[in-house]
Amino acid sequence: MSDENILVVEDLKKYYPINKSLFGKPQSFVKAVDGVSFSIKKGTTMGLVGESGCGKTTVGRTILRLHEVTGGTVLFEGKDLSKISSGKLRKMRPQLQMIFQDPYSSLSPRMPIGEIIGEAVKVHKIVPRSEYREYILQVMQDCGLQPQWYSRYPHEFSGGQRQRICIARSVALKPKLIICDEPVSALDVSIQAQIINLMKDLQTQFGYTYLFISHDLSVVEHISDEVGVMYLGNMVEYGSKTSIFKNPLHPYTKALMSAVPMPDPDYKMNRIILKGDIPSPANPPSGCKFRTRCEHCMEICANKVPEFREIEPGHRVACHLYNDKESTTK
Ligand code: SF4
Repeated sequence: MSDENILVVEDLKKYYPINKSLFGKPQSFVKAVDGVSFSIKKGTTMGLVGESGCGKTTVGRTILRLHEVTGGTVLFEGKDLSKISSGKLRKMRPQLQMIFQDPYSSLSPRMPIGEIIGEAVKVHKIVPRSEYREYILQVMQDCGLQPQWYSRYPHEFSGGQRQRICIARSVALKPKLIICDEPVSALDVSIQAQIINLMKDLQTQFGYTYLFISHDLSVVEHISDEVGVMYLGNMVEYGSKTSIFKNPLHPYTKALMSAVPMPDPDYKMNRIILKGDIPSPANPPSGCKFRTRCEHCMEICANKVPEFREIEPGHRVACHLYNDKESTTK
């Protein structure tokens, strides 16, 4: 493991039992996450993209052990989060934070925002009591919240301001890793840009590491250093932002990219329309799970699961089109 990697996820699996025998033994599973591997360098952002139901949110929640891990390892600063005791995990919680999609439902309507931001700061004794109020006001200022709002309630704020409150509540704990689950998808586009810029500014100032989960490729492009693309519980492509956006390889990534609107009115979009719906994760297709929607599907795709291979330095893809060097140049 590189010392630079703050998080290394290897072969992560999360299965949910759906049928049980008379004796309560699980007989079949929904494989929500089925062998996902990636790493994140300290102070950088990894974007995780895919359609709804691809398992990206489950990856985030399983890393934090909000769902128990079925298999694989989650190394955070070298410690395996999937195996440590719940007591030790509780002590590490301030270092591992999550920002949710819906800022309103994740804020208590009965507490003023200063208390919401400071509640866990008190519990985890992040600063001495005497410095508490000054510290919370500083965090609010860092997150673009005015000090006179300290005693106001969440319903008095707009969606963007509420997401700033959620961000302030997370960063007040001085976290090392923040998992952001669709943090801007409930907001208007202009507000989305403000929140993304705030997150980037905080990262520059305090060196936070983000796992940024989103279905929106343009948002992911704006904030990420590395990008992983998920389909039906698997990572199908992974690489630097430049390699994924300039040279997408997997047919699924190409289809997602083709749907991203361009600001140039003269640009002719060649949209790739995916046929059919996402198959049921309880009964996925054999071989490559994307084959029922892929326009390049070959015989081998039904029989063999494609390997997740490195095609160029740091750029991995799981597709039989890239089984040998010659085919990569096609
Ligand atoms: Fe398409 Fe086959 Fe590649 Fe799957 S392995 S994405 S079906 S070409």
